[in-house]
Amino acid sequence: MAAPAVYGNWKMNLDHVEAIHLIQQLGVLLRRAPVEHVEVGVAPPFVDLRSVGSVIEADRLGLVLCAQHVNEHESGAHTGEVSLAMLERLGVHAVLVGHSERRRLYGMDDALVARTLARVAGAGLRAIVCVGEDLAVREAGQETAYVADQLRAALRGLSEAARANVTVAYEPLWAIGTGVVAEPAQVAAQNRSIRSTLAELGLEAPVLYGGSVSAENAAELAREGALDGFLVGGASLRAEAFHAVCRALDDWYASTR
Ligand code: PEP
Repeated sequence: MAAPAVYGNWKMNLDHVEAIHLIQQLGVLLRRAPVEHVEVGVAPPFVDLRSVGSVIEADRLGLVLCAQHVNEHESGAHTGEVSLAMLERLGVHAVLVGHSERRRLYGMDDALVARTLARVAGAGLRAIVCVGEDLAVREAGQETAYVADQLRAALRGLSEAARANVTVAYEPLWAIGTGVVAEPAQVAAQNRSIRSTLAELGLEAPVLYGGSVSAENAAELAREGALDGFLVGGASLRAEAFHAVCRALDDWYASTR
C-alpha cells in the first residue's frame, strides 16, 4: 500500500509568484527538518503548476506535485477545462477527485466522480477521492452509510490495475475550513466503515482525513483515527504550519516502528 501522506490543497489561492515563494519556504523548512516516512504533496491552482513543479525539480525537494481537479475527457471542446495529459506533461503525479467544493459548487455528481477517478487511476496517477457527509447527514446518524454509498459509486467497476492508485480522503463538510475538527473517535468510526466498504469492493487503499487539520491536532488524529495521513487546506497556505503537520505525522510513524 502507498506510504502515509500529507497533501496540501491550496484551492484558489496564490498567484504563481506567491506560489513560488511558498514552495521555496517549504523547501527550506524540509531541508532543515526533513520528513522520512511520509510522502508530502502540494496541489496548487492549475496556473501555478509549472512554476511550483520547476522549483520542486530544481531544488530536488522530493514533493509530489498534485492537481486539484481534472476534466474526465482526453481533449477537445471543453472550454476552460484541463486534461490529464496536460497535467502529466507538467509532472503531476496525483489528482484530487470529487473534492466537496467541486461536488457542491460545480455540480460534480457521483457518476462524474467515478469517470474522472477511473481516468486518473487508470493512467497510473494517484487519485485522491474525496468523500464526506454534511452536517444534516451526520445529525441524522447516516454518516457511515452516506460515505459508503459515495465510495461504492466512485469505485465500483474500477479496473484491477487502477485500484492500487486510489487514496481515500474522508472530509466531513462541517469540518472543512470551519476550524471545527472531527473528534478522533468520529474519525476512527468512519475510518473503520470506509475500510470495510473498501474491502467489500476489493480494495485496500490509504485513508486520509481532511478538515481543519493543524500541527496541534495532527498526531492525535493520526493515532486515534488510525489514519494514513491528511489532506490539508487552510494550514497548507502557511509553510510553517504545513511543515509542522507533516512533521507531526512523520514523528508519529517513526514512533510506531
Ligand atoms: C480541504 O479543503 O480539503 C480542507 C481539508 O480544508 P481545511 O484544512 O481548511 O479544513
